[in-house]
Amino acid sequence: MLPVESTEAEPARTRAEALAANLAAVHARIDAAAQAPRAPGISVVAPQLIVVTKFHPAVDVRTLHGLGVRDVGENRCQEASAKAAELADAAPALRWHFIGQLQTNKAKSVAAYAHAVHSVDRPALVSALSRAVVAEQEATGRAELGVFLQMSLEDAAPQASGAAPAGAARGGADPAALLELAGLVEAAQGLRLRGLMAVAPLGADPDAAFERLAELSATLVAAFPGAGELSAGMSGDLEAAVRWGATHLRVGSDVLGPRPTVR
Ligand SMILES: *Cc1c(COP(=O)(O)O)cnc(C)c1O
Repeated sequence: MLPVESTEAEPARTRAEALAANLAAVHARIDAAAQAPRAPGISVVAPQLIVVTKFHPAVDVRTLHGLGVRDVGENRCQEASAKAAELADAAPALRWHFIGQLQTNKAKSVAAYAHAVHSVDRPALVSALSRAVVAEQEATGRAELGVFLQMSLEDAAPQASGAAPAGAARGGADPAALLELAGLVEAAQGLRLRGLMAVAPLGADPDAAFERLAELSATLVAAFPGAGELSAGMSGDLEAAVRWGATHLRVGSDVLGPRPTVR
């Protein structure tokens, strides 16, 4: 991982310069990964960067917007909706991607600001989001909500005996439920099925994890040809994700620095 500047008590100008330098370094990594060969059978796409701004203040989002960032990711609903309200003047150029675990009772709030939800992992969330987006469309005329189905890749990560049980770590649906879940999204009003999202399991080889994700994506696309997008890859593993066909990279700490630990 690249060294990143700290968030602690920096003057505004220095913080903006640090963000600009970090962003340039991440773009250079993405460009290099995009020029390297893909894994066999993976088609070449230009991956899009989503800067994950969770735990960092709205002023950082504003600085990033000034640096040309248009896609930002958040994983906690209250924090995201507060920041979206603060940045309302920068909308509609700014697209908010919700990437965290989501309770159904937060669907209404998410529908008010999110461009896409990357963490849809169960039928109850599909119906809650659909209802909320339809209501929001009637009230404000918002566009359809993009949906990525989050897959658990624990089955791609051989666990040492005594390790945490499979599925416990990083969320996502059981891949066995993929086509059923996709069918529900496809049939739901207000939602547009875009593809899959995953986080490589902790301690696993990201190449093995993203290879599994690419297989799942092929299964999905065979049944739903419009759903070929892949949200995969973070600060530590974006190169592997691009090799396996990621269309969206969710990068936080290598742009913004370490997340503040106390909140
Ligand atoms: C925080 C987070 C990221 C960004 O992780 P970094 O390692 O900081 O780049 C990506 N995806 C999800 C789902 C996250 O929660």
